[in-house]
Amino acid sequence: MSRRKPLYEGKAKILYEGPEPGTLIQYFKDDATAFNNQKKGTIRSKGVLNSRISAYIMERLNDIGVPTHYIRSLNMREQLVREVEIIPLEVIIRNIAAGSICKRLGLKDGEPMPKPLIEFCYKDDALGDPLVGEDHVLVFGWADVIELEEIKMQALRINDFLSGLFAGINIRLVDFKVEFGRAVEDGQYRILLADEISPDSCRLWDIDTGDVMDKDRFRKDMGKVEEAYQEVARRLGVLPSDQEMEAHEGTIVDIESRKGGSK
Ligand code: UDP
Repeated sequence: MSRRKPLYEGKAKILYEGPEPGTLIQYFKDDATAFNNQKKGTIRSKGVLNSRISAYIMERLNDIGVPTHYIRSLNMREQLVREVEIIPLEVIIRNIAAGSICKRLGLKDGEPMPKPLIEFCYKDDALGDPLVGEDHVLVFGWADVIELEEIKMQALRINDFLSGLFAGINIRLVDFKVEFGRAVEDGQYRILLADEISPDSCRLWDIDTGDVMDKDRFRKDMGKVEEAYQEVARRLGVLPSDQEMEAHEGTIVDIESRKGGSK
């Protein structure tokens, strides 16, 4: 197999050059970070579980006409995706108050929002991804008016769809973060959903028990992190079988060796 060139290594994923122009390979790592990189660790099999969960969600979103960067899965940790120019915003949609908004606005953890709330954070690790308003987005040219409207519309559509999808498996979608990019299609720029949607980027609570089934288990040292991600995958019907996992372990050496020297 030819060695692919890593183009970018983030906290949880690596992007490699794709097989054709305009494509990339998105590789999901087991690494986990929180609190703007101050807490680091690994969650066993997280890359596999997030790749499967995110692929499933992106496929379902593609089915309902939400344009995404996802093309197809190549193996348990790698996806072929469209290359996009990332819009430097973390778009957060909240249905229930949790996390940073509770501190910021004095809300009670678990309090439902009057309606879904969209927030924007400027993607800049050195600045700690500060919260910004729509005017910042326009004034600094991160997106234009039409793109911003499209992003908000898609974010709400994704929220509606995912809230239903998760409710169907007895999970409450508390909040989540998405990222968008632009790519040229038929000579025009188009907004596509990019990155991933997984328990790393969503807050997911079991509807009956209130159990936390997302990265907060890692952030708050609650234990059973891998088990929670597995349970989300299981309920979505995408948990790999033991045989698939065993076969995958055998290919890890291959994939790791491709990272050659990028340590
Ligand atoms: N989130 C994320 N990446 C970030 C920040 C937040 O995926 O860099 C997700 C987070 O998992 C949660 C939602 O966005 O589902 C809202 O996060 P919040 O602003 O409450 O920040 P936190 O409390 O996680 O620091």
